[in-house]
Amino acid sequence: KDRVIDGKAVAKTIQGEIASEVSRLKDRYGRVPGLAVVIVGARKDSQTYVRMKKKACADVGIASFEKCLPDTVSQEELLKFVRDFNSDKSVHGILVQLPLPKHIDESAVLAEISIEKDVDGFHPLNIGRLCMKGREPLFIPCTPFGCMQLLERNNIKIKGANAVVVGRSNIVGLPAAMLLLKRDASVTIVHSATQDMASIVRRADIVIAAAGKTELIKKEWLKPGCVVIDVGTNGVEDKTKKTGYRLVGDVDFAGAKQVAAAVTPVPGGVGPMTIAMLLQNTLEGGKRDIEGTGSSSSSSSQPGWKKR
Ligand code: NAD
Repeated sequence: KDRVIDGKAVAKTIQGEIASEVSRLKDRYGRVPGLAVVIVGARKDSQTYVRMKKKACADVGIASFEKCLPDTVSQEELLKFVRDFNSDKSVHGILVQLPLPKHIDESAVLAEISIEKDVDGFHPLNIGRLCMKGREPLFIPCTPFGCMQLLERNNIKIKGANAVVVGRSNIVGLPAAMLLLKRDASVTIVHSATQDMASIVRRADIVIAAAGKTELIKKEWLKPGCVVIDVGTNGVEDKTKKTGYRLVGDVDFAGAKQVAAAVTPVPGGVGPMTIAMLLQNTLEGGKRDIEGTGSSSSSSSQPGWKKR
């Protein structure tokens, strides 16, 4: 049982730390960090994520602002709302819930967000800094940031480890690989065109699975004693559930528990950490503004992410 990394518990600890920082800011400066969430269209999953994010903000004392737009909104109108939040002094983080409708150029919208408020860390300048030696982004993308926190807060050695990241998306796989590299892991990225993935995963001391494929990674693929961070959230039909489905990861969890030194469950692993890191990023953005610690520096002031 102790092989299971409890993401919910770690997230709760972090949210406690954030809540006390927020109340310190409030006492000292009479201001709190603010998060603006832009949601376009009526996707049920997006609405659920936005609701969870707003509730998490309320729980730690972060102000949240929501802009709901119909899926007929034009790109120009959407950009205008982003710009309004860019200049809004009570907003320290702007999150545009993805995916956006097809007629909107997602990358144009993400690039419009002020890098000082880019709490998702998806702005090309922040991603560029994340990939460069000696530079640090203003914000680290929340899901990979959460994966790293799970490793670090469980004292898992990253330096010199063989790390394999399954998936190369801009929001999970790629930044996760860059973060591991910055921490001196030897990183291999495998993806949908990789041949003989099993033999590559088999060498990994650390596996980060972010392919979005139900139980893709089998017990036999895992090196005994490795650490597995399962980012995947795949719905599989389950008539015993009220919703008619349940969530499973990209890893055969029951099998992994038998061979790995540690593994994250789905749900209750990376998911809660993603939200905690969004709050952490919003807090950092708020602190830079409220305490005037500046934002043009290339180093990150994120706790747990000290510059080396
Ligand atoms: P994506 O579809 O954008 O990217 C998937 C990546 O996996 C691609 O790079 C692709 O090349 C690779 N891939 C696909 N099939 C593969 C296969 N058979 N073998 C090897 N690689 C394969 O997805 P994403 O946005 O990166 O998300 C990945 C998963 O993580 C999804 O299940 C998503 O729901 C989940 N997710 C969870 C959280 C969270 O907070 N828990 C956050 C973001 C994403």
